Amino acid sequence: MVYFVGAGAGAADLITVRGSRLLQKADVIIYAGSLVNPELLNYAKTECEIYDSSKMTLEEVIEAVKASEKDSKMTVRLHTGDQSIYGAVREQMDELDKLGIQYESCPGVSSFCGAAAALNIEYTLPDVAQSVIITRMAGRTPVPEKERLSLLAAHNATMVLFLSAGLADKVKEELLCGGYDKDTPVAVVYKATWADEKSFICTVDTLPETVSENKISKTALIIVGDVVTHGNYRRSDLYNPNFTTEYRK
Ligand code: SAH
Repeated sequence: MVYFVGAGAGAADLITVRGSRLLQKADVIIYAGSLVNPELLNYAKTECEIYDSSKMTLEEVIEAVKASEKDSKMTVRLHTGDQSIYGAVREQMDELDKLGIQYESCPGVSSFCGAAAALNIEYTLPDVAQSVIITRMAGRTPVPEKERLSLLAAHNATMVLFLSAGLADKVKEELLCGGYDKDTPVAVVYKATWADEKSFICTVDTLPETVSENKISKTALIIVGDVVTHGNYRRSDLYNPNFTTEYRK
């Protein structure tokens, strides 16, 4: 049996209780060494075999899983944040399907949630934004043309950009071309929830300087939208005395 487990955004105690129990039971752990907190490996049994997938190909990962299955062992495939976001998880599942190997997923706290916590922001403020667009700038990995950053930017919703801190000039250009005002607030959150977490508030206009002056090129999220500075929102209906709900008449 294989469990795909989300490790959380960084801080070791952000893994779920279920995820930590699976780590304790695992005979084999294959973890994404580039971004998973190595402290999580302290959960492993002494005899647990541990592989760092940042040095492996998909084929090598599958070989390790196959070997584990052959000995009826339990494998945890530990991904950073939540594996459903840029986790390259589906391709592994498809290989396991071909081999008839069973698997289950245990979610994690994605870095976009970690970043909101770092900033104490709410991505969906009434009258400001009710949608969050999770995307990335096209780089070495292409993005489908229909999802080009400038097209998504036209919504002026809250945007969370993964994998894009090294492309800040291009991000600015696309955001402006799409219709964000140059003074739209932007936050750059580096290593959200890790001990060396840092965050910077700037604007679409000053994003490239902010990123370069602070030497941020990876492990960062760019959050765009008025929710960053949380001005001019309307209080929620949910907790408004004039608004009844199923639970509060
Ligand atoms: N599955 C992960 C994302 C993996 S893609 C998740 O749910 O968070 C890797 C990218 O995620 C990084 O380039 C960076 O943009 C972002 N990222 C991952 N961890 C981060 C963190 N702790 N703080 C800020 N950004 C992070």
